[in-house]
Amino acid sequence: MFTLRRVLLVDPATGREAPGSVCVEGGRIKWIGTPEAEPEGEVYDLVGLTVCPGLVDVHVHLRVPGQEHKEDLTSGTSAAVAGGFTAVCAMPNTTPALDRPERIAALQARIAQEARCRVYVAGAATVDNQGEELTDFAALREAGCVAITDDAFPLQQVPMMAEALRQAHEAEVPFLAHLELMELSRGGVMTAGPVADALGVSGQDPAAESQALLRWVEAADGIARLHLLHLTTAATARLLHYLRPGPFFERISGETAPHYLRRTAEDVRHSGAEAKMNPPLREERDRLALLGALRNGDIEVLATDHAPHSPEEKARGLAEAPFGITGLETALGVIITHLVNAGHVTLQQALGKLSTNPARLLGLEGGTLEPGSPADLTIIDLHKHWTVNPAQFRSKGKATPFAGERLVGKAWGTIVGGEWRMREGEVL
Ligand SMILES: [Zn+2]
Repeated sequence: MFTLRRVLLVDPATGREAPGSVCVEGGRIKWIGTPEAEPEGEVYDLVGLTVCPGLVDVHVHLRVPGQEHKEDLTSGTSAAVAGGFTAVCAMPNTTPALDRPERIAALQARIAQEARCRVYVAGAATVDNQGEELTDFAALREAGCVAITDDAFPLQQVPMMAEALRQAHEAEVPFLAHLELMELSRGGVMTAGPVADALGVSGQDPAAESQALLRWVEAADGIARLHLLHLTTAATARLLHYLRPGPFFERISGETAPHYLRRTAEDVRHSGAEAKMNPPLREERDRLALLGALRNGDIEVLATDHAPHSPEEKARGLAEAPFGITGLETALGVIITHLVNAGHVTLQQALGKLSTNPARLLGLEGGTLEPGSPADLTIIDLHKHWTVNPAQFRSKGKATPFAGERLVGKAWGTIVGGEWRMREGEVL
C-alpha cells in the first residue's frame, strides 16, 4: 500500500481537477482525498506533479510475432511505460497475422512473460490480412481480442464492409477502420500536392480517406460501433461531425495522432523518410480542421500509431523506406506543449482523449481515478523541459519527425496495476 501525496488529480471520467492524494492498495485505487488526507502505507510526496488515469494507446504496432527486428514486446512496452502509457492495443499486421484464436493465445502467452504494461490485442479483419475473406470475429473476441481491425489492409468493398459491421455487432466488439481507398492513394509515398511534385515522388489523393468513410456509411445499418483510425483530412473530420449523432452507426468515434496536429507535408521536405507514414502528413488546412475537431469533441481519441521500423529500413530514403514512425515516447510531450499549452484543448480534454475515452472504446475497466478502479496511473511533470533525442528511445524504432524538438511536459512515473514501472523518469 502507498499514497501519492499533494499532487494535482485530474480525472476526465468525473471532471475532478483538484489538489489531493491517491492511495493504492492491492492493485486498485483505495481512496482519493484532499491534500490533508492522512496518507497510508509508503508515502510519496509529489508536490507539483499531476496524476491522471493511466494513458491507453489504442493504436500500436508491437511487431510481434515475426518482425522483432523492428520492435519486440519488451522494447515496445518499455517505450510505452516511458511515454506514460499503462496499456496499449497491439495491431494485427504481424507475421503471421493475428487472425485466428491460436495465434492470439500464443501472443498472449508471450505478453504475460515479456510485457511491461498491459497489452490488449486487436484481431485481423481478414484471413492472413489478404483482404479476401473475413475472419471469425466472435472466435477472436472469445480468444480475448478487444477489437477487430483492417489497419494497414483497408477493406475496399461495401459488401465486405457491411458484413464486417454485422459480425462486429454480433460479437459485441468495436471495428477499427483504416480509411483508405487504394484506387485513390495508389501507394503514394506522401500526400499529393506541391511538395510531392517538388520532390518528384508519387502522391496520395487525400480524398482516399473521406471516400473510404463514405463507403462505410453506405455499408452501415445503424447498429455498428465503428472507430476511425488515424484521421488526417479536413473532409473526414467534417464528415465525422455529421455522422456522430446520426442514424448510420450506433456508435462512431475517431482518433488522430500527434504528428498530424503538429506537422504537415511541408515537413517532408527536410525530414524525408522520418516523416513518412500512412496516412501521410497533410496540408495546413487539414491540421487546423483536426485541431478544431479535437476541441469540439468530434475526435475523441488521441493515439500514436506507433509504427517502428529498424533504422536500416528507414534509411532507404523517402521513396523506398517503409511507412511508419515511432510515437509512444513523444506523444505526451507533443500534446502538452502544442495542444494544451498552445490553448487548443484543456488539460482535462487532452488527458480524456488519452485515457478515459480510449479505455471506454475498448471496453476496458478503468480510465478513471474513482476508488475501486485498477491502479493504472500516469504521473506527469507538466513543467519538464526536454528535447527529443531518438537515441534515448526505448523503442527499437528511432524514426520521428520530432527529433530535436524542444517540448514541455513529460511522464514522470507510470504505475500499472499498483506496480511502479517508471519512477522519476527511470523505467524500472
Ligand atoms: Zn497503424
